[in-house]
Amino acid sequence: MMTAGIDIGSATTKAVVLGDEGILLGYAVKPTGGNNRKTAETVLEEALGNARVGRDGVQQIVTTGYGRENIPFANRHITEITCHAMGVHSFFPEARTILDIGGQDTKGIQIDAEGKVLDFVMNDKCAAGTGRFLDVMAHALGMKVEDLATVSLQATSQIKISSMCTVFAESEVVSLVAKGVPTPDIVRGIHQAVAERSIILLKKLRFAQPIAMSGGVANNKGLVSSLEEKLETTLKISEHPQIMGAFGAAVLAQKSARTLRSKSQQRDAERP
Ligand code: ADP
Repeated sequence: MMTAGIDIGSATTKAVVLGDEGILLGYAVKPTGGNNRKTAETVLEEALGNARVGRDGVQQIVTTGYGRENIPFANRHITEITCHAMGVHSFFPEARTILDIGGQDTKGIQIDAEGKVLDFVMNDKCAAGTGRFLDVMAHALGMKVEDLATVSLQATSQIKISSMCTVFAESEVVSLVAKGVPTPDIVRGIHQAVAERSIILLKKLRFAQPIAMSGGVANNKGLVSSLEEKLETTLKISEHPQIMGAFGAAVLAQKSARTLRSKSQQRDAERP
């Protein structure tokens, strides 16, 4: 049985194609842009192409993320909190807390042994501590966000970034550069500030170990290192943390396709 999950996030759209027993057949990630429906269509086609399968074989499509309701070809849409929980649970069944940092929001999610959501918290509407915050800081330093990790690991001293407002933090970074503070120290300071803010959010939950991390920002090993140092634990992160929501959506699509199939088999069996 083949299913697909599509996560239409504020920054990127992700599609995952799963085969029997939840095997990952293919996936794709693209910037969301201004047309959710078109991007979802393109990303799904790319994921199907990477999986080398046709769309005809896909039995259920579940969408998630902020743009989930705008996709007419989906069978169901489910919140990203439920989908991230299911995606992370599929990789790390032992995880009880998830820190999900995406383009515009940070979430703490508490889950049970079945991957069901027990409680969750979200950042307020501002971009502080999210992927967008890191994107703006990288831009202020004239760097790509993908390079923040490598640069921060070269830091030799501690710099404190005192402002978490994206606009004020950006000018703080610009003035640190002007004072000649080495870039690796500034980047490390940025990661420490984002880690502290994420932990404040997690503390609003009665969070339990083990803790997993999902979302595109989990690709940033410099931030992960700051979080692990402050939490005094190793975070559970899959090889593809950015597609955890889409993966969870595809797993939930498998579950509902299975339920539909067994209902139709039951109806056939009851027919005189
Ligand atoms: P959303 O689901 O909200 O659209 P994502 O989970 O796709 O967001 O995360 C997007 C963010 O992930 C970007 O803003 C960027 O900061 C970060 N990101 C993605 N890939 C990387 C990477 N390789 N290194 C560092 N940061 C990354």
